[in-house]
Amino acid sequence: MHANVLFPINAEAFTYIVPEALESKIKPGQRVLAPFKRGDKVGIVTGFGGDKLKGKEIKLRSLKSILDEEPLVPANLLKLIKWAGQYYMSTSGLALKNALLSAFFTGRKQGKARLTYDENIKKSGGFSLTQEQQNALTEINNPEDGVFLVHGVTGSGKTEIYIRAIKALPDDKKAIVLVPEIAITAQMVDRFRSRFGDEVVFYHSGLSTGERMTQWRKMRNGEVKAVIGVRSAVFAPFENIGLIVIDEEQEASYKQFEGLRYSARDVALARAKLEGINKIILGSATPSLEAFYNAENGKIRYLELKQRVEQRPLPQVEIIDMTMEDKQTFSFSNKLIDSIKETISANKQSLIMLNRRGYSPFPICTDCGYTYKCPACSITLIYHKDTKTLNCHYCGSHLIPQALCPQCKGTGIKYLGAGTQRVEEELHTLIPELSFTRMDRDTTRKKLSHYRIVKQMEEKKIEVLLGTQMVAKGHDFPDVTLSAVVSADITLNMPDFRSGERAFQLFTQLAGRAGRGDFPGKALIQTYEPEHYVFDYVRHHDYNGFYKKEIVQRKELFYPPFSKLIRIILSFKTKETAKKTVKDISVRIKRIDHKGIEILGPAPAPIEKIRNLWRWHLILKGKNSRALRRTASLVLEKIRGIRNIKIDIDVDPINLL
Ligand SMILES: [Zn+2]
Ligand SMILES: [Zn+2]
Ligand SMILES: [Zn+2]
Repeated sequence: MHANVLFPINAEAFTYIVPEALESKIKPGQRVLAPFKRGDKVGIVTGFGGDKLKGKEIKLRSLKSILDEEPLVPANLLKLIKWAGQYYMSTSGLALKNALLSAFFTGRKQGKARLTYDENIKKSGGFSLTQEQQNALTEINNPEDGVFLVHGVTGSGKTEIYIRAIKALPDDKKAIVLVPEIAITAQMVDRFRSRFGDEVVFYHSGLSTGERMTQWRKMRNGEVKAVIGVRSAVFAPFENIGLIVIDEEQEASYKQFEGLRYSARDVALARAKLEGINKIILGSATPSLEAFYNAENGKIRYLELKQRVEQRPLPQVEIIDMTMEDKQTFSFSNKLIDSIKETISANKQSLIMLNRRGYSPFPICTDCGYTYKCPACSITLIYHKDTKTLNCHYCGSHLIPQALCPQCKGTGIKYLGAGTQRVEEELHTLIPELSFTRMDRDTTRKKLSHYRIVKQMEEKKIEVLLGTQMVAKGHDFPDVTLSAVVSADITLNMPDFRSGERAFQLFTQLAGRAGRGDFPGKALIQTYEPEHYVFDYVRHHDYNGFYKKEIVQRKELFYPPFSKLIRIILSFKTKETAKKTVKDISVRIKRIDHKGIEILGPAPAPIEKIRNLWRWHLILKGKNSRALRRTASLVLEKIRGIRNIKIDIDVDPINLL
């Protein structure tokens, strides 16, 4: 008897001999100890067979022992793992690595809990529903199958719908609720626990490994009704799932950016198909274009919540034209500073966002608002200091900036570059008595710091929370009445075809943080490009208008949802090998019969160098997913033999950076 054993490494299953003594006990999904190279390794049995190996000169080794009495991984999950490995053009082994905690293979339990729960949570019955919530629930809870897009403005009570949809499931059916990492707050945990008690488990990086192993076993044994978790909870080991909820389905954090580059949203949808799960809820205040497009075309059912609970008004949004401000030495307009002061004197709080990413500064004309765009790609060019050029990160072309603005011939071109730290200094100078905290990746690296900052805000120990997009997401601070964007231009000018969509989503979300309590809110957005089309829609919370505008562009440029993309990232140790090898690759792939699939590149990746590797990429674009993957395989065949190259494949990339 032979068994196939999958290890959490970048490979498919290996075949082993099952010793006679183990033959009657071994089952798929169990962990086994197997000899591997010079040591032993823990793997998962995926199946039996290996007969085709007979007669071949491969010397098989024998399994040593079985580690689980009952399978740790149910059969349906084994199938999903296999699917994920194939779909993402990776391996089942890498998919397994993402699906299971490494502690199940190593036995090492590292890390302590970051988020502890209040033991004595009171059970509560929940809130009364608005008519819109009631209507949405009636649709969801009817016995027909369906994928639903619940499109609800910020503060419209989507969470309550999720809770009641879970409550309405038949007794034997389980639920998975996926939320973005940042949304797992003590607040949210309490909310679910107050309604489900111990019937719900949480699964996220705030827990210790030991706790997560316990949660896994509870799910595996069917002891709980539901799991609330981040990305990897899509691999929850439930066997009989009746509902999957994907909250804020448009969030980029559902996508993993290394290893197996999977999207939890898409894996969830695939899981639903594989396992016949008949209810899926995609929830969002600002749905992805893909989701809304599918709703428009009747592929998924559309449920809209137009009103906030208790009819609270949406915040008033004002766009501040920074070109009209008189001589700016600070990143703040007078209006924004005054508004912060007013908010403090009213004993209310403010959220201030500056989404400064680790990019070189971008050039902009402060007289007319002109920014450089690539004529071929309609994306923004980035100023590179080393070469003093403006580069198109997509097609590889570049420009040398002139001294004068190409549009108004003025001398107003400036390299703007205020990050959160500089803005922090400015705030100190402008309002010395202000109490505030900065929240970005630098200040939240330590364990619990994120929760501490949120707590400070909740307990009103600070008046202002300043930070990157972290501050725009997942929090419900009832006393925030002002939200502001210091510079919208960074987000607007990301060199990516989704920058308009991302900007609309981010500004709408941030605006939506204001006025969620009993007091109306206000949002101020500062920009040098007040005429940018995104603002026409942000100003009026007009998702539909934005969608109509954006979808036309996507169609013209043949981007998703009209096409599918596969990105192949090529990394090299030196610039010279990169250049040489890339030339070779161009020649090799020219001969591929790509049947209607566009192959763009190789071109340098927008972020040219990461961790001392020089990055280039190929982008494959096509309508038919299967043809696209076939062409990608052909490309990979051609380049796999090349030395000194690291290849990453990104199926359905969400950015091309
Ligand atoms: Zn948070
Ligand atoms: Zn100009
Ligand atoms: Zn270009």
